[in-house]
Order: sequence, then structure tokens, then C-alpha cells
Amino acid sequence: MTRIPMTERLDQGWFTEVFDSHGSAFSLMIKDKLHEVQSPYQHLEVYATETYGNLMVLDGCVMLSTRDNFLYHEMMAHPALFAHAAPKRVVIIGGGDCGTLREVLKHPGVEQVVQIDIDEEVTRASQRYFPELTASNDDPRATLKFEDGVKWVESAPEGSVDVMIIDSTDPVGPAEGLFEVDFLTRCHRLLADGGVLVQQSESPLYHTGSIIRELRADMQRAGFDSVATLPFPQPVYPSGWWSATLAGKGSDVTRFRERDAAAVEFPLEYYSVETHRGALALPPFMRRALSA
Ligand code: SAM
Repeated sequence: MTRIPMTERLDQGWFTEVFDSHGSAFSLMIKDKLHEVQSPYQHLEVYATETYGNLMVLDGCVMLSTRDNFLYHEMMAHPALFAHAAPKRVVIIGGGDCGTLREVLKHPGVEQVVQIDIDEEVTRASQRYFPELTASNDDPRATLKFEDGVKWVESAPEGSVDVMIIDSTDPVGPAEGLFEVDFLTRCHRLLADGGVLVQQSESPLYHTGSIIRELRADMQRAGFDSVATLPFPQPVYPSGWWSATLAGKGSDVTRFRERDAAAVEFPLEYYSVETHRGALALPPFMRRALSA
């Protein structure tokens, strides 16, 4: 998918990201550019918008806004954690804004979370412009590493992880390797029996017959026993609709600890036992495209 920023429109008070290959675009009215840096890996910008709070953009692609990031971060963390019988050791690859990390740390049973993002600039910008997402970073259970996730999984010990969360950018540039079958095979090796992996898997409307279908096939090739794609709304991403694909090692990710999910005491904005159940009910067009 080609995602192109229409930076010239900034002069007129709008940030626009164009999705050329799908003939669509998404715009937000902006007040100001707050931050801009070229890291060794990507071009990072932060804007203040009129109605969506702050907006983080990497290489011209929208990453998150203050207003709607809860949808993505809750759906990247809670379905996978409740699909596991008793998650204690969690790894996040990517996720540098720390929103997913914050959600994982809400689970009292989690004993350690290691986050590996290639780009420290993303975390530094998030600390400054999205402080609510990084508020749990000092939790003693959390370790933040800044290195390539593809390399990190090559050397991590076998069977040492309960839940792996691949919270990456789109499958181009530094994140390309995170969508390859070899990477998934290494993740499978890192997971203990009963382990769960979840990967952000792009738009159900635009990518069910391509990226999502290929990712699910690669997960099966990598040795996973069960796969489930959970769609959820995400207004700032292409098509306004996004997905997380779960894979189970010796476990069935189409099931989850419903009683525990219904009894949570921590604050949630989107995830609930009902939204999890609803997300597991794939729309017919997706079911058809995935079984074709
Ligand atoms: N899922 C959101 C989206 O699609 O817009 C993005 C969330 S997060 C900001 C994505 C993170 O993945 C970025 O911080 C980026 O640095 C990180 N990333 C990309 N490639 C990586 C790699 N090979 N290893 C570790 N982190 C990587």
C-alpha cells in the first residue's frame, strides 16, 4: 500500500495522508507542528490538531492520535492476554509510543514485559507529546530496549515468552522483516507451549485478500496451531478500520478467558468481554476472502 503525505496542504491548515493504491485519503485540521526529527530509521513528526489532540506521523504515515489511540492499543493487548491461560512473560516488538505497554501492564498477573523498538526517538517523542501513554514506563516489570526486533528474536531463549505482541509500522522499511515467515518461525520458537502471538494486520477492507490472508498462511507455516483476525474501528488509519491477527502455539485463540475478561477492575475504553466476542465473529466477506 502506498501512503503519501500531502504536506503542501499544511499551509492551508490540514495534514493529509493519501492512500494512493485505494484512491482515498484521511485529513485532520492542524493547529501547529510541534516536533520534527529525522532518526536513522524514519522521519518523525508530531502535530497539534484542532479536534484529535496530538498526532504522531512516521514517514508520512499516521501512527496515533490522542483521541483514538485507545482503540488500537486495547485491541493489541487485551485479546491476546485473555486468549492465554496465565500470561506472565510478555514481549512487545515495536510499540515505541508505549500505549500497548501501558495496556499490558494493567494486567496484575503479568510479571515482566520487554519492549524492543528500533527507534528511541519514537519513545522520546511519546514521553513529551503523549505522556499519558508512557506513564507506566517506570513500572519495575517493564524493560525498554532500542534495537531491531528482527535481530532480537534471533538470540532470545527458546520457550521463554507467554505472549508476543508485534506492534509495528506497515510492512515496508524497518518493519518489512516483521511480516516474514522466518520472523514468525523464530517467534514461535520463543513462545512457551500455550503461547499467543498477536500482530497488527492492517485494514480489513483494503487488505483481507492480501496482507491478512498471507500473514495467516505464514503463521500456519511457522507452526502455529490456531489463527484469529479481530477487526476493530480505527478512524485515523487507512479506511478507518483495522485488525489484529492472533496465533496460538498449542492453544486455541478463537477462545478466551471470558470470566476473567468480564471481571477486570482496571479502566478500559473499548475492550470488553462483549467487544472481544464480537471481534471474533468475522464478517462474511472476510470469511469468504480468507477461505478462498
Ligand atoms: N501500528 C501503528 C501503525 O500501524 O500505525 C504503529 C505503532 S508503533 C509507533 C510502530 C513502531 O514499530 C515504531 O515505533 C517503529 O520504530 C517500530 N518498528 C518498525 N520496525 C521495527 C523493527 N524492525 N524492530 C523494532 N521496532 C520496529
